[in-house]
Amino acid sequence: MSYYQMNENLSIDYLMKQGIFSETSNLTSREVGDGNLNLVFIVKDTLSGTSVVLKQALPYVRVVGEGWPLSVERTIFEANALEIHNRIVPNLVPKLLHRDDELALIVMEDLSHLELMRYGMMKMEKHPKFAEHISTFLADTLFYTSDMHMSSEEKKRLVAKFINVELCKITEDLVFTDPYYDADRNNINPRLKPYLEEVFWKKTELWLETSKLKYKFLTEAQSLIHGDLHTGSIFAGEEETKIFDAEFAFMGPAAFDVGKIIGNIFINYVSWSGKDEDVEKIQDYRSYLIETVKRLHRLFEKKFIENWKKDAQDISARVEGYRDQFMRNLFIDTIGYCGVVMIRRVHGLAHNIDVDGIENLEKRRDVQVKLLELGEILIMNRHQFNNIEEVTDMLRENI
Ligand code: ADP
Ligand code: MG
Ligand code: MG
Ligand code: MG
Repeated sequence: MSYYQMNENLSIDYLMKQGIFSETSNLTSREVGDGNLNLVFIVKDTLSGTSVVLKQALPYVRVVGEGWPLSVERTIFEANALEIHNRIVPNLVPKLLHRDDELALIVMEDLSHLELMRYGMMKMEKHPKFAEHISTFLADTLFYTSDMHMSSEEKKRLVAKFINVELCKITEDLVFTDPYYDADRNNINPRLKPYLEEVFWKKTELWLETSKLKYKFLTEAQSLIHGDLHTGSIFAGEEETKIFDAEFAFMGPAAFDVGKIIGNIFINYVSWSGKDEDVEKIQDYRSYLIETVKRLHRLFEKKFIENWKKDAQDISARVEGYRDQFMRNLFIDTIGYCGVVMIRRVHGLAHNIDVDGIENLEKRRDVQVKLLELGEILIMNRHQFNNIEEVTDMLRENI
């Protein structure tokens, strides 16, 4: 069937026709999408209490409107990635129940018993299992889709399957390019504009280093990366962690996922400087965030290396020194991407509510300047850091 746009009633009709609910069910549907791009319906049988989520792509960018067309083909990448995640890390992602590439939709497990990690963090919630879970997600998805594990042929087929032209272009522009000059699409706090004009946009060496990281993003088909791994793509509870919204997935630099999630945690860390919260509470929460980043990264490296020792198939992966060099480069790039994502969320098109929730524009600007400065330190000095502790020490010293 050719594409049509779902609404609440049509989503019910569709799921009934697919036999996803039984004939006797009594369905309600609610559109809950809060993301930048797509429609998301929670459809529930009020009799049995069972529910599913139907996510459909719109033929344009939702936050901008029909003036920015975007093909609905992105659902195919999300479904393909989610199928692979369902195989590699089934406990850490929503179960994929059904896909319909013509209608550009997927039906998946309803996770609304969990809270979006970003909203939890804005209330200083702690997620005790997060570091353990996200490090497994990263180590397993990034290792088992790499050349260390896959055969050369399988790997190249995967590269071909994930030619995600349009969503890669969004990242190339919005993350790696627009923030470095006065681009039309930037979304700028008016109080920050003078700083951008007089200081930030004159940093040609910074733009050069970011461009090198962009080039790796363009060319380095290392692993199947999630591509949009911020705290709004994660549900986190006391016991569970679920990673979703993989429409940006493609075969790219593994460090991008690792750097992006750490960068988003750092953004939350810095954001508290602009908020009227109890100083001790802030200190306590920041210590928790630092511990989380350290644990996440240490566990990620440990698990990635364990996977390598156990399951590397490529004989070159056993050559003396190869793995150490790989891990070192991965770390350097992780720090670079971490800095890049901190910067793009300040004045690029899409912001983080952690910072935009600061209503006083002067206070918000001060936080934003801090983020730009920290992002720059990370990018410019990425080769000088020896381990994650040195990175978090730098953060602590500067905030
Ligand atoms: P977008 O690609 O537009 O950003 P997301 O996949 O991030 O869309 O989903 C937008 C919102 O819909 C999420 O923030 C979440 O509130 C809700 N949502 C998405 N998937 C699920 C799910 N499996 N269970 C419950 N809610 C979901
Ligand atoms: Mg999203
Ligand atoms: Mg919670
Ligand atoms: Mg998305």
